[in-house]
Amino acid sequence: MKVVAEVAASRPLMPVEQALERLLALAEAAPIEEVEEVALGEAEGRVLAQALVATLDLPPWPNSAMDGYAVRLEDLHDQPLAVSQRIFAGHAPAALQAGTCARIFTGAPLPEGADCIEMQENTEVLADGRVRFLHPLVAQQNVRPQGQETRAGEQIMAAGTRLGPIELGLAATLGHATVQVLRRPRVAVLSTGDELVEPGLSLGPGQIYNSNRRLLVSWLQRMGCQVIDAGILADDLTLTRQCLEHLGEVDLILSTGGVSVGEADYLGMALREAGELALWKLAIKPGKPLTCGQWRGVPVIGLPGNPASTLVTFALLARPYLLRRLGVSEVAPLRFSVPAGFDWPKPGSRREYLRARIEDGQVCLYPNQSSGVLRSAVWAQGLVEVHEGRTVAMGDSVPFIPFSELLD
Ligand code: AMP
Ligand code: MG
Repeated sequence: MKVVAEVAASRPLMPVEQALERLLALAEAAPIEEVEEVALGEAEGRVLAQALVATLDLPPWPNSAMDGYAVRLEDLHDQPLAVSQRIFAGHAPAALQAGTCARIFTGAPLPEGADCIEMQENTEVLADGRVRFLHPLVAQQNVRPQGQETRAGEQIMAAGTRLGPIELGLAATLGHATVQVLRRPRVAVLSTGDELVEPGLSLGPGQIYNSNRRLLVSWLQRMGCQVIDAGILADDLTLTRQCLEHLGEVDLILSTGGVSVGEADYLGMALREAGELALWKLAIKPGKPLTCGQWRGVPVIGLPGNPASTLVTFALLARPYLLRRLGVSEVAPLRFSVPAGFDWPKPGSRREYLRARIEDGQVCLYPNQSSGVLRSAVWAQGLVEVHEGRTVAMGDSVPFIPFSELLD
């Protein structure tokens, strides 16, 4: 990608980095701090409230990396060696008798006195059962030393670590049956718009099905949030006030719609009465308008209503905001450089997040990038980022963010 021109905007739009920076600062000012102790089986997707410290060495004792024979190097001068014991994983060995070797299996403790292990493929068992070692060995060969992974007392995961299968596996390796995690964020989801109807009901004139509710509720649940699903909110100030009153205690009110045209922005009106409201015009496409405010002290993020805009602004702004409220430090998704399988000749004034997929090693765009077309994102594997003021020629490296980086 190369910079072609500074694109003059009629009014300055807020760069994506700045919006993110502001949201993260707001998140840091309102951390979720209540701690729960949960069993490992319940901890998937949760965030560590305090650092996890190793209570033992890993491995706890030197052990065998191979199925083979444990020996003392100096005894190899006088081969073959008789087998004086068999050591299976899970069983304590006796000290190695001088002038012998021990049959040993992967994961079994190294017997005292042995200083290396030869894999069985490099040995020959004679008719009388003695073992000949076919190659020279070096000290500690095929031995996993005590503490090679972790030493007791070492911090193995920092507070703010999100627990997925790998982290839970490590916690289990260290013998933790439970972990201290932060409570789930409570997020109220509101879909605003007179035109919205829930799936399963029939559509009247001018009506469409509510897609954002499903999109956000499912996404938030995958992120480990407790969702308060407030359903559809009609474009009406009284109903909006009533809805807010009945939400109960939540950490975030997340709405969609109503931000693109000021007139129908009843949530904005309600916030002006009993809270705070900032309307941001972002240099992002899809998804220019974003509401950021609070209602009676509860943070509010209002995402634009077009489903692809909802997706992009949630992924890049609301998601990192929520994770930061839980003290997660790495909230930026990984971006991979991929050769463009498209031309982008006209520089834009907003940062574009294009629904794209990798085909034959190149990243290709869905032909219709309209913010109303959610199908583009189902076809896509992720988002290509094209910075404002830039063009892309076929084969240029472009940043690609896979959805797998964003969806939980
Ligand atoms: P708005 O920001 O309310 O003007 O909405 C922008 C566009 O997104 C309009 O075409 C709306 O009909 C559409 N839209 C808003 N909310 C939803 C929703 N929950 N599901 C599907 N489309 C929506
Ligand atoms: Mg609307």
